[in-house]
Amino acid sequence: MTKLIAVVEDEPDIAELISIHLKKALFEVKIFLSGNKFYAFLPQKKPDFIILDLLLPDIDGLEICKDLKNRQETKEIPIIMLTAKGEEIDKILGLELGADDYMTKPFSPRELVARVKAVLRRSEQAQKSVEIKAGDDISIDKAKHEVRLKGEKIDLTTTEFKILELLASKKGWVFSREKILDYLWGREKAVLDRTVDVHIRHLRKKLGKQGELIKNIRGVGYKLDT
Ligand code: CA
Repeated sequence: MTKLIAVVEDEPDIAELISIHLKKALFEVKIFLSGNKFYAFLPQKKPDFIILDLLLPDIDGLEICKDLKNRQETKEIPIIMLTAKGEEIDKILGLELGADDYMTKPFSPRELVARVKAVLRRSEQAQKSVEIKAGDDISIDKAKHEVRLKGEKIDLTTTEFKILELLASKKGWVFSREKILDYLWGREKAVLDRTVDVHIRHLRKKLGKQGELIKNIRGVGYKLDT
């Protein structure tokens, strides 16, 4: 599927140059000459990638980056920032803003395309690793907090999801009830061991036949069979 790249850049010549090179690399491109124009488009279609100029006439590129990385629905979109000078790089790539890469103007458009591809590869790799398989039919999507059984989404409570996620993180490994409780609530909450058994019972039921993969090891705890 063709990836849509949003180029948010107020200088038309630069935006056009970037666009030409990205299209050559078979990306779909949409140019936005201001922050507001980009925000007006965003609800219609979420881009797969954003190239974002730091100095825009209306909204500060840094503000846009920060905003997108703070919102649940947009935080996974990779962003490369374009800066006029090498300044504020720590801030741009740091935790506060969390851009994925940056380029200093003037830059080579080819280099930019290479960086886009590298960042995309990296983020696809990261997305993949959030999916865990259990047994033949269970797949756990950590990013979406979804569990599918034979491709069908099943409704788990947050607690059930977390227990399954924990057990699946180390298949075959036995987790004590205490470990499970710690993972669920931390040490501050005093909950009876029995609680774990109840959640596991519900979880097993929802997983149907695959629920048998969750084994109780007497006197020790629970594990997920491989
Ligand atoms: Ca600019």
